[in-house]
Amino acid sequence: MTGSVSAEMDLTWRYAASAPMRRFLEGVAEGRLEAGRCTGCGRRYLPPRPFCGRCRLAITEWVPVTDRGVLEAWTLVHLPIRDGRSGEMRPSPYGMGLIRLDGADTTLNHYLQLPDGVEPRIGDRVQAVWRPERRGAMDDILHFEVIR
Ligand SMILES: [Zn+2]
Repeated sequence: MTGSVSAEMDLTWRYAASAPMRRFLEGVAEGRLEAGRCTGCGRRYLPPRPFCGRCRLAITEWVPVTDRGVLEAWTLVHLPIRDGRSGEMRPSPYGMGLIRLDGADTTLNHYLQLPDGVEPRIGDRVQAVWRPERRGAMDDILHFEVIR
């Protein structure tokens, strides 16, 4: 008895996107990013939500945001993960970042391309790297990269 459990899981799941997320992903398919804006407090949510977490009002307005932003936090992940599109294992370790896109008030969690030999810094500017062919999914953005 080692005090730990080891198991391998192969899971497939499918879930329906909310109406705001569906609209957001339709924009992603066209290379366009939009945040849902609360008409009460003006907070701009990206990813979008059905309701404002502060006002409890339904999000009914949309505002364009850019595919550039600020790195708010990041971490290095050593746990291998399978790429959902290719089925291949992603090389690890890899970076994950919390990114606040210009025009949004909330952060987006996404892959962060780590610059060779340079550690990202909180506050670094980042840029989305898009796939040439898109299908309306979060992985239409391959990752974000630091721009200095
Ligand atoms: Zn609000």
